[in-house]
Amino acid sequence: MEQFDVVVVGAGLAGLQATRLLARRGVRVLLVDRKRSLEDSVHTTGIFVRRTLEDFPVPGDCLGRPVRRVTLYSPARRALTLESPHEEFRVGRMGKLYARLLEEARGAGASWSPATRYAGLEDAGRGGSRVLLERGGRARPVCARYVVGGDGARSRVARDLGLDENREWVVGVEDVFRGVPLEGEPCLHCFLDPRLAPGYLAWVVHDGEETHVGVGGYASRFDPVRALESFRESVAGMFDFRPARHAERRGGRIPIGGVLKRIANARGLLVGDAAGAVSPLTAGGLDPCMRLSSLAASVVAEYVETGDESALARYSGERFRARFVSRLWMRRLLSHVRSPFLVEAGCALLRRPPLDALARHVFFGRGSFPDVEAAPAVQTKVRGAAV
Ligand SMILES: Cc1cc2nc3c(=O)[nH]c(=O)nc-3n(C[C@H](O)[C@H](O)[C@H](O)COP(=O)(O)OP(=O)(O)OC[C@H]3O[C@@H](n4cnc5c(N)ncnc54)[C@H](O)[C@@H]3O)c2cc1C
Repeated sequence: MEQFDVVVVGAGLAGLQATRLLARRGVRVLLVDRKRSLEDSVHTTGIFVRRTLEDFPVPGDCLGRPVRRVTLYSPARRALTLESPHEEFRVGRMGKLYARLLEEARGAGASWSPATRYAGLEDAGRGGSRVLLERGGRARPVCARYVVGGDGARSRVARDLGLDENREWVVGVEDVFRGVPLEGEPCLHCFLDPRLAPGYLAWVVHDGEETHVGVGGYASRFDPVRALESFRESVAGMFDFRPARHAERRGGRIPIGGVLKRIANARGLLVGDAAGAVSPLTAGGLDPCMRLSSLAASVVAEYVETGDESALARYSGERFRARFVSRLWMRRLLSHVRSPFLVEAGCALLRRPPLDALARHVFFGRGSFPDVEAAPAVQTKVRGAAV
């Protein structure tokens, strides 16, 4: 049976970032994904915030044009436009970016197994695991000292490791178009309307090359595909879709309960959506993917190099949850707002001082995920227990 130091399950942004950093540290790492090609079924809009682009070298040719402007619309479509002197957002060309990160990981020595489904874990003794993989209908078990679960919002690895699992979600669905004419500057348009997007928002982000039109909300309160269709019809007067080509439909669950508490133990740890590392307020998960996976790679490399379990204490969801308290409360508040009239009144307040500053803070603030290295350490015993 093949032996690896680490098996990473899931080649989304979180798994790819962890894999390439582990490989660069000389760790023998295998990355697996059930997808045949990483460009298949991308589920994210891919909006990167300024802080990520400043702190991580995301290749410029994998990003759309910079966006400095946000327009927030009330249910009655009253607009509040926020301008920033900075390039606040760029939409990732995610298929291309995933392929680039994979190339880097393989260049650094990582092994890659596409079209490979993770099917479970068995204890292999001496602290290792037998990782049950299936490819082309055939079992292909491998041995690993450690397992990293980057397998998304409904992580099977989390369950198999006995770690915490996501329980609260919104769902998002969007259409991507190419060739929608752009008038003026690229802009992120956000629509607050509980009839279209209950508990979250609808969006159009147009960077001059791609236009993403999407809706998100609590699954129990709407039919996302029908809501997307009526939303697109409702913005047809603002954007000219006639010359455009429909490129793809994307969608999926977004965990919004905040970073889970128990995200690591002596057999494995979780990254990205599997760890609940998504802002409960904005539902942004790409910045958390980059930050948490960078920490995960450093912790895992230290652990497999030294065998010292105290290295894992640095990787505790408790460290980050405290930084999400206000956002979790705001999320709870939003989840109860069902009346368009209330949202209209809230939007009217946001257009005036001092609450206009809050809108600027939500969109242009730099707080999407705590700086993981700076977060306070937690004193926890780790032998056999979650940290
Ligand atoms: C519609 C939508 C729009 C979004 N837009 C934004 C945005 O603009 N900006 C932002 O910051 N965040 C956004 N998010 C959130 C963000 O996309 C996610 O937080 C982020 O992509 C999570 O990355 P990940 O690597 O953790 O998981 P994923 O990207 O879900 O990757 C998980 C991978 O694991 C693989 N996998 C799962 N199970 C198995 C298995 N059993 N065996 C093998 N492989 C498996 C999957 O195939 C997948 O490739 C959006 C989310 C949605 C749904």
